[in-house]
Amino acid sequence: MLKVIAGGYVEPGSTQVTKTGAWRTFVPVVDQKRCSKCSLCEIYCPEGCIRMVEGLFIPDLDYCKGCSICAHECPRKAITMVLEEK
Ligand code: SF4
Ligand code: SF4
Repeated sequence: MLKVIAGGYVEPGSTQVTKTGAWRTFVPVVDQKRCSKCSLCEIYCPEGCIRMVEGLFIPDLDYCKGCSICAHECPRKAITMVLEEK
């Protein structure tokens, strides 16, 4: 259970228990053929939700908020943001 402290302060790592992907508009799609596995997307993702899984960098869509930072930082332009169909 997330504990919110009076004054608006929230403990770090709150996104680990809050599924921020619920209000996303755009979703990152990784072109694995273009990916060089540099891990910059993992480093820059503010939600810490893009990770290597079985050799592929894949965003966890339960927590991805669609901010597009990963796509902006990818040096290979391997990540495309597409409108999510709900
Ligand atoms: S930043 Fe781009 S090239 Fe680097 S691991 Fe992520 S998707 Fe692959
Ligand atoms: S769109 Fe934002 S939240 Fe989603 S994986 Fe990329 S950097 Fe992380």
